[in-house]
Amino acid sequence: TLSDRLSGIFTKLRGKGRLTEADIDATAREIRLALLEADVALPVVRSFVAALKERARGAEVSQALNPAQQIIKIVHEELINVLGGEARRLQFAKQPPTVIMLAGLQGSGKTTLAGKLAKWLKGQGHQPMLVAADLQRPNAVNQLQVLGGRAGVEVFAPEPGNGVGDPVAVAKESIEYARRHMRDIVIVDTAGRLGIDQEMMAQAASIRDAVTPDEVIFVIDAMVGQDAVATAEAFRDGVGITGVVLSKLDGDARGGAALSVRHVTGQPILFASTGEKLEDFDVFHPDRMASRILGMGDVLTLIEQAEAAFDADQKEKMTSKLLGGEQFTLEDFLDQLIAIRRMGPIANMLKMMPGMNQMKGQLDDLDDKHFDRVTAIIRSMTPAERANPKIINGSRRARIATGSGVTVMDVNQLLNRFTDAQKMMKQMGGMMGLPGGGRRKA
Ligand code: GDP
Ligand code: MG
Repeated sequence: TLSDRLSGIFTKLRGKGRLTEADIDATAREIRLALLEADVALPVVRSFVAALKERARGAEVSQALNPAQQIIKIVHEELINVLGGEARRLQFAKQPPTVIMLAGLQGSGKTTLAGKLAKWLKGQGHQPMLVAADLQRPNAVNQLQVLGGRAGVEVFAPEPGNGVGDPVAVAKESIEYARRHMRDIVIVDTAGRLGIDQEMMAQAASIRDAVTPDEVIFVIDAMVGQDAVATAEAFRDGVGITGVVLSKLDGDARGGAALSVRHVTGQPILFASTGEKLEDFDVFHPDRMASRILGMGDVLTLIEQAEAAFDADQKEKMTSKLLGGEQFTLEDFLDQLIAIRRMGPIANMLKMMPGMNQMKGQLDDLDDKHFDRVTAIIRSMTPAERANPKIINGSRRARIATGSGVTVMDVNQLLNRFTDAQKMMKQMGGMMGLPGGGRRKA
């Protein structure tokens, strides 16, 4: 499976001290193959691998994670991206009833989903109604009625014994009925064929026009392979879909459909169907699915813990620095800026502390551009200047400004800020009851 392939790839990276360009290329190649073998659509594979390479090479080298962990983290995050990032909720009509139409191939799990959705929505306090607009197969209406019975939800269906009804007319009538009977959500089950055909698509489009749905949900069997793309495209173009449901995720799905469908349809995956029972159903969470595809729940936990521990370590170091008062140099100042920027919460915390008003501007200015400028300025100083900024006279200021591509005014501003911060460090040391205005005892 894709999970096995990926963990095999990551195992090879374990124990590497640094990732070379060649390591990254080899890893990217293997991941590309693994995705293709899992039937992920080619454009998705391409953009996935490109993003992976760029990020692996890029500057985001973490000090908390080893190279294998970094790659896993990037792959995990890119998987989440491909799967749509955040979960999206159902769109409800401003004026009830909200109409949800289901579309998809025969056997994809539409009727089962209809029952699941109805039960789930009822559990949330809605008054849903099911509509049997699949009149193609003799048993389809009955199947929906059984599911409706289990969900405790009314099923709107043509009277039995009237011959084959017109699904478009049934769908249209059902909306009127729902309005009269105060049903706030109408779920329209439709017929599917084994393959895509014109007639089926035309019927689905007619039903859509008759009920003007708020959501057209495309149901796709997660077990299907390369066909997923063609099917998704056909429904996208033939009916127009607003969301996707992956069904049969309890099976041994290779992941291809899941990873392709969002990209191909341009629409979010809303729910996941994971079994035959009405309860086997949940809102789709891209992050959980990504973890599932990676199949490395414990590794991901480890990565999170490593990062959290690293942050805690940084916080501690910074506190010592903060209390170091007089030893506080421009080098420390830079470290501190880096640390503050990395941990938004600390910046917020600092702002709330008494006596921090002088630093407020400095904290607020921590946008990327400003940060880069400050970094450049400090880097353009000699070690002696960094250790003892008092020696930075006018000509040194001009040299530093030229060297870092800023104005002398920028240099002045930074030095003023630094002096303020240094003063404040002393005060803080005093506030915390440290002797010598904050000098740490050895
Ligand atoms: P439809 O033709 O699109 O309406 O598909 P159905 O809802 O009738 O489902 C076809 C078959 O797949 C039925 O036997 C369902 O019980 C089964 N099925 C549907 N969803 C799932 C699922 O999430 N997991 C599993 N294991 N089976 C499912
Ligand atoms: Mg059906």
